[in-house]
Amino acid sequence: MRQSKLFCKTKKEGFKTAEAISHRLLIRGDFIDQLASGVYSFLPLGKRVHRKIERIIREEMTALGAQEVYLPILTPKRLWETTGRWEKIDPPLFKLKDRHRKEFGLGPTHEEVITELVRTRIKSYRDLPLYLFQIQAKFRNEMRSTGGLLRVREFIMKDLYSFDREKEEAITFYKKVKRAYFRIFKRCGLKVVCVKADPGTIGGELSHEFMVLSDTGEDSVLICSKCDFGTNIQKFGKKKTCPQCQNRLIKKNCIEVGHIFYLAEKYSRAIEANFIDKKGKKNKIIMGCYGIGLGRLMASIVEVHHDEKGIIWPIEVAPFQVHLIPLSGKKVESQSKRLYQDFQAKGIEVLFDDRADITPGEKFADADLIGIPFRIVVSEKTLKKDSVEVKKRSEKKIKLVKIKDLSRSLINLC
Ligand SMILES: [Zn+2]
Repeated sequence: MRQSKLFCKTKKEGFKTAEAISHRLLIRGDFIDQLASGVYSFLPLGKRVHRKIERIIREEMTALGAQEVYLPILTPKRLWETTGRWEKIDPPLFKLKDRHRKEFGLGPTHEEVITELVRTRIKSYRDLPLYLFQIQAKFRNEMRSTGGLLRVREFIMKDLYSFDREKEEAITFYKKVKRAYFRIFKRCGLKVVCVKADPGTIGGELSHEFMVLSDTGEDSVLICSKCDFGTNIQKFGKKKTCPQCQNRLIKKNCIEVGHIFYLAEKYSRAIEANFIDKKGKKNKIIMGCYGIGLGRLMASIVEVHHDEKGIIWPIEVAPFQVHLIPLSGKKVESQSKRLYQDFQAKGIEVLFDDRADITPGEKFADADLIGIPFRIVVSEKTLKKDSVEVKKRSEKKIKLVKIKDLSRSLINLC
C-alpha cells in the first residue's frame, strides 16, 4: 500500500477527554473514528488489524471443530420472553419497534436465537456434539461509554455455542475452549489470567473470565506474586495468601477480554431443545457459550504494547509487517520502488511512505505512532553501502542490512 493513497490522517493530539491510552493512540493514528458515544468507524488501518484478529480467532474456532454461522442482529421480543431475559437484561438490551409496532431487541448475545435454531434441527444423539460460532455486530445500551473501544455500544463479537449430550462431554469441550482462548490471546501478544467468574445474566453453573493486566482496566483481580494463580476479587473476599503456594496475593487492575460459560440446561430447558439418546430416552441438550469482543481485544493490545511515541503492534495483528520509508534522492526513489515491488511479490505486507512534501522527522513520527513492527529506511547514505536501515519498532537499535539479504531476513522475521 502506498501511504500517499492511504485513507489515514494522523493527528498530533488525541481527544482531550480520552482517558485510556489505547483510545488516544487509536484516534491519533486514525485507526478508528468516533461517530457517537460508544460508536466507532474502523478506518483502513484499524480494519486491517481487526481482520487479523478475526483470522486468528476463526482459525482457532475451526481447529475446535466449530462451524461458522451468521445470526440476525434484529431479534423478536417473543424469543427473549421464553427465557425471561426481555426484562432481565434491560439494561443493556437495546429495544425498538418496527412499523407494525412489533417489538425487537438488537442482540447483545445470542443464546435464545441459536438454541431455537438448534431445537428445530437436532433430533438424535447422532447429531451431537455440535459447535457453532459467529463473528458479528452486537449492541449494548450502556449507561456510560467512555474509554474508546474498551466500552462501546456497538461492537463485533465472536460468540461460540456448544451443544453436547452430557455434562462430562460438555466440560471436556469447555476445557478445550479455555486452552484455545489462551492460544488466541498469546497470538495477539497478550498474557492473560483466567479467573473464575460470576455467570451474571448469561447464567449457567460455571464461568471463567480472561483478564489482561492493565492499569486502565475497570476490573480487578487478585494474582499470586509467585505462581500462576489468579482469582476474581468478589469470589475471594479478603483472603491475602495464595491457596496454591501460600505466597502473597496482589490486587491488579485488568481488562476482561474473554468470558466463557458452562450453561448446562438453562436455555435448552426454556426453549425445549431436546434429543433422543441411545436408549430412546428424551434428554435436554447440554450447552456452553464463549465470547470475545474483538474491538476491546484490539484496544487491550494497545494498552499493553505502546510507548510514549505510539503503538507497537505484535507481528501477527499488525496492519502491515513492514514500513518502507525512503528519504529524498533520485537513486533512493528508484531503489525503494524496487524494494516495494519485491516485498509485495514475496507476500510481505508493506506500507510504502511515498508521500512528497513530508519531512523525514514527520515520517518517522508517523511510523512510531502507527506502530508497524519493522521500519526500513532507504537513504543516499545507506545506498552507498548497498544497504538499508532496519529497525524493529520494539527496539532502539538500528541495523544496516545489505539489500541482497533483505527479503530473506525479513521473511524469517515476519
Ligand atoms: Zn501462588
